[in-house]
Amino acid sequence: MNLLVQKFGGTSVGSIERIENAARRVIQAVEKGHRVVVVSSAMAGETDGLLSLAHQIGKRLPEREMDVLLSTGEQKAIALFSMMLRKLGYPAVSLCGWQVPIVTDDVHTKSRIVKIGVQRLKNLINDGYIPVVAGFQGVTETWDITTLGRGGSDTTAVALASALSADCEIYTDVPGVFTADPRIVPNAKKVPYISYEEMLELASLGAKVMQIRSVEFAAKYRVRIHVRSSFSEEEGTWIVPEDEVMEKVAVRGITADTKEARFTVVKVPDKPGIAAEIFKALGEAHIVVDMIVQNVSHDGYTDMSFTVNKTEADKAEEIIRKVAEKVGAEEVVRDDKVAKVSVVGLGMKSSYGTAAKMFEVLAKHGINMMAISTSEIKISCLIEEKFAELAVRELHEAFIENNEEIKVEGG
Ligand code: ADP
Ligand code: ASP
Ligand code: MG
Repeated sequence: MNLLVQKFGGTSVGSIERIENAARRVIQAVEKGHRVVVVSSAMAGETDGLLSLAHQIGKRLPEREMDVLLSTGEQKAIALFSMMLRKLGYPAVSLCGWQVPIVTDDVHTKSRIVKIGVQRLKNLINDGYIPVVAGFQGVTETWDITTLGRGGSDTTAVALASALSADCEIYTDVPGVFTADPRIVPNAKKVPYISYEEMLELASLGAKVMQIRSVEFAAKYRVRIHVRSSFSEEEGTWIVPEDEVMEKVAVRGITADTKEARFTVVKVPDKPGIAAEIFKALGEAHIVVDMIVQNVSHDGYTDMSFTVNKTEADKAEEIIRKVAEKVGAEEVVRDDKVAKVSVVGLGMKSSYGTAAKMFEVLAKHGINMMAISTSEIKISCLIEEKFAELAVRELHEAFIENNEEIKVEGG
């Protein structure tokens, strides 16, 4: 059975006309002989709208109830999508996450999928139906509704493709994965093939075109993903294993992430166990800590800075203030106006000078670096938020538009 999972993002189902356009893409695939499972996001703006409604009640809200609320966006979209397919003459059945079921852990608002039941989907497909599955939604073992984190419909699609041994198409509002966000860098180029590893770094460093977990999932189960536009027929980007990427370049892409906040715990006693205490408390609250910098110590004291996701910054702040008091730190400073800019590329493993060049470009524009982190295939710098777009454009120009390096074909 030639199975295909087609996922449509918010913009691609943003109006009834767009839902019709998306439905026609499904029909096209069906007419070519594919059996299709549709995954739909909420209509564009819907999830944000629900969030801001809730935020009229308060800042820190019960996460279980947030999931009940946020999951409604996708429920509405799948109903409309199925109605549209039926109107166009194709039998479709909408399914919420719990009806599949897509079983997750109980970490509300960012749950992880632990199990997918495929029997109902398979039965529907065998009976000639097009299942239209709600992205983003899950259900715990004890029947509570969960969601998979912002952008989570990508993960629903990849997980279903993996469970069904199907191919996976991600339809979005840009024609593929670019060397930088095409909305910020008009000269950004579409990348025909990108490795899981590179896509994972780009996604975790701010390229929201694919949710991080969806790429982790794809890498683990080797799901090949085709990211493309729902508004054109052109070939998009294939996210594939590294050995299938023909052209290896030092720098594949540039990103900026303005979704993090920086905390500095000022004047903490510089002795073993203090860092562990701070990060253990955050870990227990399921808060992911990113860039960590510990300054040189003076008179037995040091400053410790780190970043966390802004959506978790209020929760983190409460915890950090408590621990800071306990360990006798002087104060806690929070800065929400930071951005992490990064250059990413597999070829960095075997080339040198990337860091020097990156620092040079930032320095040339008077952009100060507050923290640096590296891996084999990326370099990230934390800078002031107001410089984020400038940094991305300048780094793109230096590394991609004016790149004089020799590319390694097939190697
Ligand atoms: P969807 O609603 O279809 O899931 P998203 O808004 O989540 O779409 O992701 C698509 C957006 O990702 C694009 O509109 C683009 O602005 C942004 N983006 C950021 N970085 C990149 C990149 N490197 N390549 C392509 N798109 C990118
Ligand atoms: N609707 C959810 C969001 O806006 C999930 C998604 O679109 O992938 O984050
Ligand atoms: Mg998305």
